[in-house]
Amino acid sequence: MIEVSELKNQLQTNMFEGLSEHNHEQILVCNDTQTGLKALIAIHNTTLGPGLGGTRMWMYHNEAEAVRDVLRLSRGMTYKASISGLNLGGAKAVIIGDSHHDKSEALMRRFGRFVNNLGGKYITAEDVGTTTKDMEYVNMETDHVVGLPESRGGGGDPSPVTAYGVYVGIKASAKRKWGTESLTGKKIAVMGIGKVGMHLLEYLHKDGVRFYVSDMNEDALNEAANRYGAQVVTGDEIFDTDAEIFAPCALGGIVNSETIDRLKCEIIAGAANNQLEDEDIHGPMLTDKGILYAPDFLINAGGLINVYSEYTGYHRENAIRDTERIYETLSSIYKLSDEEGIHTQAAATKLAEKRIHDIMLVKSRI
Ligand code: NAD
Repeated sequence: MIEVSELKNQLQTNMFEGLSEHNHEQILVCNDTQTGLKALIAIHNTTLGPGLGGTRMWMYHNEAEAVRDVLRLSRGMTYKASISGLNLGGAKAVIIGDSHHDKSEALMRRFGRFVNNLGGKYITAEDVGTTTKDMEYVNMETDHVVGLPESRGGGGDPSPVTAYGVYVGIKASAKRKWGTESLTGKKIAVMGIGKVGMHLLEYLHKDGVRFYVSDMNEDALNEAANRYGAQVVTGDEIFDTDAEIFAPCALGGIVNSETIDRLKCEIIAGAANNQLEDEDIHGPMLTDKGILYAPDFLINAGGLINVYSEYTGYHRENAIRDTERIYETLSSIYKLSDEEGIHTQAAATKLAEKRIHDIMLVKSRI
């Protein structure tokens, strides 16, 4: 059995090891006993601009898990902004707690004050477990927040735009795999019928796609079945269907050795962040199995593109137009991956890192 002091030491070591592994700039630990706030804000890289990333509220099993998640997610934001051509850095926040029971106005406003203390180095937005209403509370304490309701001059819920980006990304993937972007008659397994998943069904339904869907939310499943004729599958049976495309739209880490072994699809393209449990292992494994993988931070960038357009005076049609570029970028990533014999996530990472490196050189000159 591990002693408490040893566990604390491990946590501390892991935190700095984690920060160094991918060169994170900063992590802020936010604690407030009065409101019960326990949060972490991780800033990965601010070469391109202030770090922007949503605030996730989640019931983590332990602190180490929260640290790992916030480091992974913030790094993903750096790449997402870079590959999408946005002048933003990468950051993310996690609040440890149950979003249904532990959230309050005071907690969100206290969190907002921590965000404000960073002086604009970190800009927050909603994410899993937080809503536009929560961001209104955060906004009472700081201006460094995006994704406010449209009535307050913001872009509102970014999920429909994220879903649109995934939709065009699926088309680009189909074109690469089958030589045509037509999806008529194809079967797509969508894991997670939440804010993004449901909008994705709406887009794909118009193209004559058939669906398998899974979620824990019975209402969402019933809606998917009634509106879009989706076939509901239970639990992890979503990995065993005969769908040609698998669209993960729940949480990360679900593309791993076990699920890759089970999946019969030819394309994986979905909204979830950090889909590959381990990029270095599972990226090549997918290539070996002949499954085309749409890098998550590229295909799900619509939400970030949407909030970014708040800076230039928000118009949803502009956000949609900019999101359409995901098709071209993804096509060029697939080409790069073939040319260089590297897996698609590595190709996307390479392109994102190159832009950061190039702009860092530009900024180092007078
Ligand atoms: P959401 O919370 O609205 O939906 C997630 C859904 O997944 C929920 O309905 C939940 O019940 C379901 N779910 C959770 N675990 C599951 C499991 N094991 N099997 C099946 N279903 C499960 O979240 P969202 O906004 O739709 O986002 C979905 C994913 O896309 C997340 O990973 C999020 O980080 C990512 N993402 C979202 C946006 C956005 O604009 N909302 C942008 C970029 C990335």
